[in-house]
Amino acid sequence: MAVNHLPFIGNVETMKDEMLSVEDDLYQSAITFIKERYPTGWGGAAAIRLRSGDILTSVAPDTDFDALAACMELGAILEAHKLDEAVTHSICVFRDGEHSRFKILSPCGICQERLRHWGSDVMVAISNPEQKVMFKPLLALQPHHWRTAIDQSNT
Ligand SMILES: [Zn+2]
Repeated sequence: MAVNHLPFIGNVETMKDEMLSVEDDLYQSAITFIKERYPTGWGGAAAIRLRSGDILTSVAPDTDFDALAACMELGAILEAHKLDEAVTHSICVFRDGEHSRFKILSPCGICQERLRHWGSDVMVAISNPEQKVMFKPLLALQPHHWRTAIDQSNT
């Protein structure tokens, strides 16, 4: 029986398009939510994609005391834990005012640790001067992460 081992290039292109679509959908979810939640003034939100394809959004809490602040994505991360669903993508977006340009925030070091729970291949949107929707795996942000020492000692 003849088996065709040649790669099907069309599939690769379709997969790339789907990933771009996933990342763009996540960005759109974040900015749509910001426009609803913060119609005027400053606004910011996170959007997280679960392995199921569902998208969770969350915001940083308004606090009078800075020490009570928490990152935008924390609420969605906690919701993912509650649902026992793996996170595949995360994005944080903010704007200074309702007429300002949207800007992308890379996850802070603490949130990188929180997201790493689901592996170093979790895709995170990163800050960049052009404000392009650009995702990279956590591994690219933390190539010397401490976890690699633990993983190596178990092999
Ligand atoms: Zn954070």
